[in-house]
Amino acid sequence: MLLTTTALDEWTLRGIVYCGGCGDLMDGLTRGGTRTRVYACLRGCCRGGTVASVLELMVLTDARRHSPELIEGVPERCHSQVFADLYRAIVIHAGHRGVDILPR
Ligand SMILES: [Zn+2]
Repeated sequence: MLLTTTALDEWTLRGIVYCGGCGDLMDGLTRGGTRTRVYACLRGCCRGGTVASVLELMVLTDARRHSPELIEGVPERCHSQVFADLYRAIVIHAGHRGVDILPR
């Protein structure tokens, strides 16, 4: 198993996820003993961050609904390119106030 490749490819939303609190780009972090992947604001607006798998599934579902021709059949490792093409920003609002998925 190519762990390094997996690690590089797993952050499919890196570069388009923004903090709704301060507007900064959020980074992908792996948290705690469970190695939970989260997208988090490095300024600390969003205590603990947003669980990456949940957010990625949400965006994938949106892509399938609105642009099925662009996402179906695309290998998971290439999803980041599709997401970057489709979305201007994914904005995370702290305190469970939701997520804005902003198309280009
Ligand atoms: Zn922030």
